Amino acid sequence: MHKTPITVAYGDGIGPEIMQATLRILDAAGAAIAPEIIEVGEAVYKRGELAGIAPEAWESLRRTKVFLKAPITTPQGGGYKSLNVTTRKALGLYANVRPCVAYAPFVQTRHPTMDLVIVRENEEDLYAGIEHRQTDEVFQCLKLISRPGCERIVRYAFDYARQQGRRKVSCFVKDNIMKFTDGLFHQVFEEIGREYPDLEQETWIVDIGAAKLADTPEQFDVVVMPNLYGDILSDVAAQIAGSVGMAGSANIGEQCAMFEAIHGSAPRRAGQNLANPSGLLQGAVQMLLHIGQGEVASRVQNAWLRTLEEGLHTYDIFDPAHSRQKLGTREFADAVIARLGQRPEQLRAVDYPADSRLPQRPPQPRPAAHKVLVGVDVFLHQRQRPASELGARLQQLASAGLPLSVITNRGVKVWPNGFAETTCVDHWRCRFLAPAGQAVDFADLLALQTRLNLAGFEPIKTENLYTFDGEPGYAAVHG
Ligand code: NAD
Repeated sequence: MHKTPITVAYGDGIGPEIMQATLRILDAAGAAIAPEIIEVGEAVYKRGELAGIAPEAWESLRRTKVFLKAPITTPQGGGYKSLNVTTRKALGLYANVRPCVAYAPFVQTRHPTMDLVIVRENEEDLYAGIEHRQTDEVFQCLKLISRPGCERIVRYAFDYARQQGRRKVSCFVKDNIMKFTDGLFHQVFEEIGREYPDLEQETWIVDIGAAKLADTPEQFDVVVMPNLYGDILSDVAAQIAGSVGMAGSANIGEQCAMFEAIHGSAPRRAGQNLANPSGLLQGAVQMLLHIGQGEVASRVQNAWLRTLEEGLHTYDIFDPAHSRQKLGTREFADAVIARLGQRPEQLRAVDYPADSRLPQRPPQPRPAAHKVLVGVDVFLHQRQRPASELGARLQQLASAGLPLSVITNRGVKVWPNGFAETTCVDHWRCRFLAPAGQAVDFADLLALQTRLNLAGFEPIKTENLYTFDGEPGYAAVHG
C-alpha cells in the first residue's frame, strides 16, 4: 500500500506526549502515512534560528507538503518570530479551518448543540505587518485585502461546506465602515455564493455577528471571515464550545497544509502523562481527510467519540458527574485504540467519504481595469494650527488642474467649513483632486510635493487617487 509521506514535529512541553499518542492511534487505525520527523521549536530557537525551524526542515515540508505539528514554545523577547506565522506565510497557507464542536453532556458547555466551523483568511488584512510611525502622535497599520485573497478563502469556505454536508455559510465583515476592504470581501462572498445555490448564505456585520455567535452559536454552520475577526472569533468559538483542549485546526494552502491542536505547549503539564491528546488528534483527522484517507479518519473519529461518551477522560475534562475514569495521555490513547471499529451511541457518528480531498481552484486573473490618475491625498506632519489657516495656505500652493478639495484629521473633515470643536492631531490628510472628468499627470503630483516641501510643509506620505473603469478607487469624505 502506498504510504503518504508527512512531515511531523513533536514540538515542546506536552507536544511529544500528545504526538506519540496521536501517531499510535493513527498507526493502529491503519493510516497509510510515512512520517518524516523534523525538529522545530524551543531548542531550534535557542540555537539561534530566529524562526524556530532549521533550513533543512523546509526541504521535508516542501517535499511532503503535509505537516502535522505539535505545539511549540516560543521564547519571549529576543527577536524570535512565531513559527506558525512564518510557516503560514512561507507555504502560502491561506485558510485556517477550525471546527468548534460541543460534546455535551460529556464536556461542559452552555451550548450543547453547537457545531460550527470558522474559516479564517490567513494571509492578508492587518497581519501583513506593514506598520509605520508617521508623526509624533500618529502610528499606522495597513489593512490589505486582495481580490484573489478573498476569492480563494470564500471559495474554500463554500467548497468545504458542500463537501462536509453543511447547510449554511455566513460571512462576517465590517463593510458599513470599511467599504473598500471589507466591502470587497462581502462582494466576493456574494459573487461566488451564486455558484452554490444549494447552500444558505448570509452576511453579518461582525460586531452583531460576534454577539450572536457567542450567544446562540447553534445558529451558525460555516462562518468565513477576514484574518483579524477570524483570529479573535475562532478563539471565542472554541472556548464556548467548552473544548479548548479538544479542538484541532487545519491551515490549508494551494500546495501545502499544516495540521495542529489549537492549544499551546502547556509547559507546566509537560512530562507527566497528563495532557489531553484530543486537540492534536482532531488536527490529525483533518489531515487524513486532506490526504484522501476518509475511511481511516472516520474510524479514528468514531472510536474517539465512543471513548468520550464512555466517560474515559483526561484530567482537563474530567468531571465526576459525567466521567467514569480519569486517564493519562497514554491510557487515553490506549482506550481510543481499543475502540477502533466501534461507533458512538449518543454523540453523532461520522461517515466521511472515502476520498474527500477538496479541489484547489486558484482564482482566475481578471482583465486590468482602465485606470486614470485623478488626484492625490498628501499626508502632512503639522503641529496644531487652525485648519482654516492650513487650508488657505495649501490653496495657494495648489494648481488649477489639481486644486485642494478637502482636509481631514483622523478622517474627520476639518476644511472647508470644519468645526472648531473637532479634536485634531498632528496628522493631516489633504486631498488634491482634479476637476470632474479631468486626469492628472504624475509629474503634477511630484511638482505639488516639491512646492509643499519648499514652502516648509512635510509630506510624510502620499496616496494616489485613481478611478477604475470610471469608479472612484478611494473612499469619499463625508461631513
Ligand atoms: P496553553 O494552550 O499551552 O495552555 C493554556 C491552559 O490550557 C493551561 O492551563 C494548560 O495546562 C491547558 N492545556 C492546554 N492544552 C492542554 C491539553 N492538551 N491537555 C490538558 N490541558 C491543556 O497556552 P499558554 O500557557 O498561553 O502557552 C504556553 C506556550 O504555548 C507558550 O510558549 C505559547 O507561545 C505556546 N503556544 C503555542 C501554540 C502553537 O504552537 N500552535 C499555540 C498557542 C500557544
